[in-house]
Amino acid sequence: MSGRVIFHIDVNSAFLSWEAVYRIRHLGGKLDLRTIPSAVGGDISKRHGIILAKSIPAKKYHIKTGEPVVDAVRKCPGLVLVPPNYELYEKSSKAFMAILRKYSGQVEQYSIDEAFVDMTGTESLFGNPVIAANTMKDEICQTLGFTVNVGVSSNKLLAKMASDFKKPNLVHTLFPEEIEKKMWPLPVRDLFFAGGASERKLNSLGIRTIGELAKTDVNTLKSVLKKHGEVILDFANGRDVSVVEPVPADNKGYGNSTTISFDVTDASTAKMVLLSLAETVGKRLRKDDVRIEVVAISIRFHDLTYASHQMVLQSATNITKEIHDAACRLFDELWDGRAIRHLGIHTSRVSRNSGSRQLSLFDDTDYEKLEKLDRAVDSIREKYGMDAIQRAAFLKQTGVDHMNGGISREKRTVDYKNEKEM
Ligand SMILES: [Mg+2]
Repeated sequence: MSGRVIFHIDVNSAFLSWEAVYRIRHLGGKLDLRTIPSAVGGDISKRHGIILAKSIPAKKYHIKTGEPVVDAVRKCPGLVLVPPNYELYEKSSKAFMAILRKYSGQVEQYSIDEAFVDMTGTESLFGNPVIAANTMKDEICQTLGFTVNVGVSSNKLLAKMASDFKKPNLVHTLFPEEIEKKMWPLPVRDLFFAGGASERKLNSLGIRTIGELAKTDVNTLKSVLKKHGEVILDFANGRDVSVVEPVPADNKGYGNSTTISFDVTDASTAKMVLLSLAETVGKRLRKDDVRIEVVAISIRFHDLTYASHQMVLQSATNITKEIHDAACRLFDELWDGRAIRHLGIHTSRVSRNSGSRQLSLFDDTDYEKLEKLDRAVDSIREKYGMDAIQRAAFLKQTGVDHMNGGISREKRTVDYKNEKEM
């Protein structure tokens, strides 16, 4: 792993920046949302909406991502709120990733607005890593109008930590020899995957900084954090052996993935998440009247490693249950018990004709009935909203959204005509 050059690129206040650029470049607006206290808020009309992104001036009012819109407005009565526009985010994200792919074939999209790029061996093309990172950052800003932070290091973890240093529009390095000076003084919560419950447990051990964590005995950590203790001890020392896993661009198939807000450690919860993904993927296939023959799943573990697995189906399909069954089989073959942070379903080999099903003696599934069921569900959701109907399995489950998939939640396009003049 030594001698590698890894970048982590993170869009600054992504949803808000993308909206700001859209209003200026495409709607001819004069006001730049990034320069005033502003935020993207989910479902402002309903009072329980939450803040999805905020401008840097809004940060001064202690407005936090994930907090209720009502609380944010209480803190900053002049806050300019804009509704989310997921279609815009998808387009912006695609354009962003396309620029990264110009610099390296090894691009791993980590979320809608973040990616790892393996830049090893590109020095003769783009100059030393810091020059290359600045070129990349500036090209994104000039071409697309929004800023990013680039973290530069020799592994993914350190690159990710570095991109989170001072924002916006900056390149930071965090090479192993800089860990002590740049990373160890930070509070443990700033360490990747050491927030929330881990932070409380570490604090109870008297561990407040990443440096203190780095010097703690592994058994002490394991006694309170189990396996995760080992992972974050490695992280605190800058050790990360995961590699950049190029994820194919989505345009050749239909896929959806989701980052889970908690560690999934049991197969049944994971399969619920897969069902929610199969729902959204299936819905898109049926909407476009296409079928797929290949189903793949991907798992990202809590230690940044990644695994994927795929299979070819007997017959092309767009039935939610069939996609989910395949995904579950793949999951059982792939999963080794490690805590999961992100799951994806990707389908490919897309065809338009309905084709004929391979009949099997041992398969008495009534596919026609399943197709009818999916169609009925789709039309109910079309008419009454996607929460109008959900599979019974989700009723007893808490914490798993029944329609998961990247950013498709509350998916809707903003009607800019109804927005106030900006
Ligand atoms: Mg970001």
